[in-house]
Amino acid sequence: MTRRQRVLIVDDDLTIRRWICAVLKPLDIDTITAASGEEALAAVVDAGETGFDLALLDVFMPGMSGYDLAQAFRKNADAPIASTPLIFLTAADDTHAKLTAFSHGAIDYIIKPFEPQELTARVKSALRTQALVEQLEIQANTDRLTGLLNRHALTTILQKRLDRLKSEPPNEIERRAGFCIFFIDLDRFKVINDSLGHEVGDHLLIAVADRMSRFNPVEGAAPNTPRPEVLVTRLGGDEFVLFIDRLVDPQQALAAASRLANTLDQPVQIQNQTLGAAASIGVRIADSAHHSVAELLRDADTAMYEAKAAGKGRAVLFDHSMHKRAVTRLTLEQDLTHAIANGNLLLHYQPIVSLRTNKIIRFEALVRWQDPKRGLVAPDSFIPLAEDTGLIRPLSNEVLRLACDQLKHWYSTFGSDHTPPVNINISPRQLFGPEMVEKIQRQLTDTQVQPQHLGIELTESSITHDFDAASKTLGQLHDLGIHLSLDDFGTGYSSMTTLRNFPFNTIKIDRSFVSAMIDDRACAAIIAATTTLAFNLGMNVVAEGLESIDELQQLQALDCDAAQGYLISPPLDAVAATRLYQERGDQFFPPHLNTDTTSDAWIRDAG
Ligand code: C2E
Ligand code: CA
Ligand code: CA
Repeated sequence: MTRRQRVLIVDDDLTIRRWICAVLKPLDIDTITAASGEEALAAVVDAGETGFDLALLDVFMPGMSGYDLAQAFRKNADAPIASTPLIFLTAADDTHAKLTAFSHGAIDYIIKPFEPQELTARVKSALRTQALVEQLEIQANTDRLTGLLNRHALTTILQKRLDRLKSEPPNEIERRAGFCIFFIDLDRFKVINDSLGHEVGDHLLIAVADRMSRFNPVEGAAPNTPRPEVLVTRLGGDEFVLFIDRLVDPQQALAAASRLANTLDQPVQIQNQTLGAAASIGVRIADSAHHSVAELLRDADTAMYEAKAAGKGRAVLFDHSMHKRAVTRLTLEQDLTHAIANGNLLLHYQPIVSLRTNKIIRFEALVRWQDPKRGLVAPDSFIPLAEDTGLIRPLSNEVLRLACDQLKHWYSTFGSDHTPPVNINISPRQLFGPEMVEKIQRQLTDTQVQPQHLGIELTESSITHDFDAASKTLGQLHDLGIHLSLDDFGTGYSSMTTLRNFPFNTIKIDRSFVSAMIDDRACAAIIAATTTLAFNLGMNVVAEGLESIDELQQLQALDCDAAQGYLISPPLDAVAATRLYQERGDQFFPPHLNTDTTSDAWIRDAG
């Protein structure tokens, strides 16, 4: 404790006041005296937020008694004096007086006339206790890593401010009690933490805290605009909340938040790494309709979520339609959680056909959600949510389990030698959990499915996320004998590095190229180049989204290995997929499409 402790001494007798001050002098504290209850109250007002660490109150004084004064102190529970420990000074040494003193919140009392040693001892002990209490309070309100206020402190502050907001007459609200909060979440913190280590992560949080603390929300406003009170708090992890007093104009608040997002993203040097801390910020202006702190924070959090959905690194102002969307999302999340647990997910299978042999060479498993209210839900409406909420892990486990079950089923129908392999899709965020390879291995062992029957499709973005981890995981999967496909090729940061450094067996050309191929020579050229490249790297090429005979012919002309798409078949449920494989697995396209007699050019002259 660096601050000198402050003791308020209230007694109508000047001699006693002086005597107490003299006795307490060696304690190295500040003593403030008052000759009456009224004077004491004035001293309390003067002290403001600093307050006192202890008050010694004479019980019997003309006018306001010590007891009355104690009551007045306790009146406003938020004022610092309300929690200041009190010691009563009294001449009466009877049980009743003692009880009265304690019932008025005394922590102690001293009987007059007092011994200097006794007075010193009791004051010292009270101050020591108070110092400890204050220290504990600071600890309870401070985030250890950054030294910022923590969630507990934020909640307390917001509660006080909301109460005040509601007690002001409506037209006075803006001017006197209005405020806004920014809900801030770093966009890439987990990746940084996982790939560069916690120490770097910690330093980044400290740097971010520092930038926020120096942020001036009215910078660039009219000169002489005073900087409003700003409190920076850390909720935990990479979540921060800024409280800004009197910033109540929505456009100004939004502009300030955008500026903050910009500031945070400026590069910072941390242990030889140059990092930015791109952040998404939700802005919420408090209004008296907020019934609780939780609601206020929830709104700001909702706006932050919208900022992330809109592409991250930006600020978004809350509006009420967002709340509805958030509720919808929450319901969806709860329902999906149950669906995963209750076995309401199922897989559809879309065949991939070789353009060289005209055979079905494998199936891609695509997840569906069979929901009583919503019907059969397509993955695009729940996979992104699952990725955001972490549900992607249990979901993927379920997909893996279902795919292996299907493979086992096909073993018994077709025999394992004639079972088509099944590809499952892997989301960027689930790829590099340390347990991923282990889980797949265990599933294969448990179901006795052979690794060459399982394939994995992943996009380039899952690799660029974390190159080293990806390299390790994919290497392990490859060593297990699992077929690896690079999905949606051409839509991400396609790079030679990816292709050269990772053990992919297959490149899947995104359907946007296939559908544009006929009209756009550039797309056709890209497909041709990809095919050549793949050939040189010893990989196969699958064209996605094949929808017409024209496209099929062109793909053949471009020497593409295989194709997938509605022309061949939409994704089918397990029964239909099984039948399709039984009936057309060995010769997919009917012979009339094939005018050539050699089997590996069965369709070249189709038309
Ligand atoms: P994707 O991996 O690119 O899967 C192919 C999507 O294209 C499928 O949509 C499929 O129905 C659709 N498609 C197939 N042929 C054609 C065609 O000729 N024309 C057109 N326009 N579309 C075609 P679906 O099943 O809705 O899946 C959408 C995406 O959801 C998938 O894209 C994949 O990224 C994701 N997904 C599906 N299942 C899973 C899963 O089990 N786990 C994960 N993590 N993601 C999944
Ligand atoms: Ca896929
Ligand atoms: Ca794809």
